[in-house]
Amino acid sequence: MKKLTATISAFCISLGLQGQTLSVNETTSDTLSNDNIKLTFLGTGAPRPSLTRYGPSILVEAGGQKLLVDAGPGMRERLFEAGGFELLTDINLIILTHLHFDHTISVPGLWLSGWLFGRKSPMTIYGPVGTESMMGHFESAYAWDIRYREIVGVHERGSELNAFDIEPGVFYEQDGLKITAISVEHMPVIKGYSLSPVLEGSTLGFRIDYNERSVIFSGDTRTTSSSNLIEHSMGVDVLIHEVQVPAPGNSPEAQLANVSLSVHSTPEQVAALFRNTRPRLGVYSHIIPPELTSEQITEATDYDGPMLVAEDLMTLTIGDEITVGIAGDSGTNIFTEADVVDQ
Ligand SMILES: [Zn+2]
Repeated sequence: MKKLTATISAFCISLGLQGQTLSVNETTSDTLSNDNIKLTFLGTGAPRPSLTRYGPSILVEAGGQKLLVDAGPGMRERLFEAGGFELLTDINLIILTHLHFDHTISVPGLWLSGWLFGRKSPMTIYGPVGTESMMGHFESAYAWDIRYREIVGVHERGSELNAFDIEPGVFYEQDGLKITAISVEHMPVIKGYSLSPVLEGSTLGFRIDYNERSVIFSGDTRTTSSSNLIEHSMGVDVLIHEVQVPAPGNSPEAQLANVSLSVHSTPEQVAALFRNTRPRLGVYSHIIPPELTSEQITEATDYDGPMLVAEDLMTLTIGDEITVGIAGDSGTNIFTEADVVDQ
């Protein structure tokens, strides 16, 4: 935890941001004003396993509402680390950018353990076309487990999984929180075709608006000059973007690693988007490869505005100022059996 604090502090100071739009909060207990949006980066990595960058997942808190953007490997554990059983059982909404395993594999983990340890409301999932089908398969896969636990006394409320396929546009509006799905470009390209003719599906980014604060989540996407993200990102407070730093050289390993550059974004391309849209803060998350340091990514980014590289368990509180903090130590890790029975 201390190392993360030092990294963030050093980074902000090096950009001369302290005391301006961005300040560092070195405590672990941010209080969330009702006017702010708070983000907790649960995982900032990608498909390759990493013990420092878990799979992509970001907790969003706005007013009294909580939701997750994506559910990558390790999300459940990071949530528990950030807020104990209270947080684990408090979340009943996940929005998915797309259906790759590194964005969805923790859906069953949170859906079922949140329920097993006390959540008494259904889990709701929104995502691109195919989400309803995938969630239906999860329900079938765990039907025996659910029935077993209900028979031995776990309450039945909370074991439901409600899934919705969504299209680009506004799909969620409640108590001042508005979420817009944005079509982005992450489908494979096959020589001779602009888009693959053999695989149906889509990939999404999201814009979240609350109380005149706004955040863009790029999702997984290559960046082009016609990207839908440009229009949606104008005037945004925080623009969170994925990144892949090309492997150097021309070795077979480097060539293989760089195949995925056709569906991800280089620092050069993201810098161009940042320059075009000028967010109050640009943020990198979903970092490929995960062992890259913040300094390496920053050095590769030709952008002179406020930006940083997210780390697991980093928080951003977006208000009049944007404050960086560290999640953790706010929940209990002592489980009470009484939480899971119907009273
Ligand atoms: Zn991904």
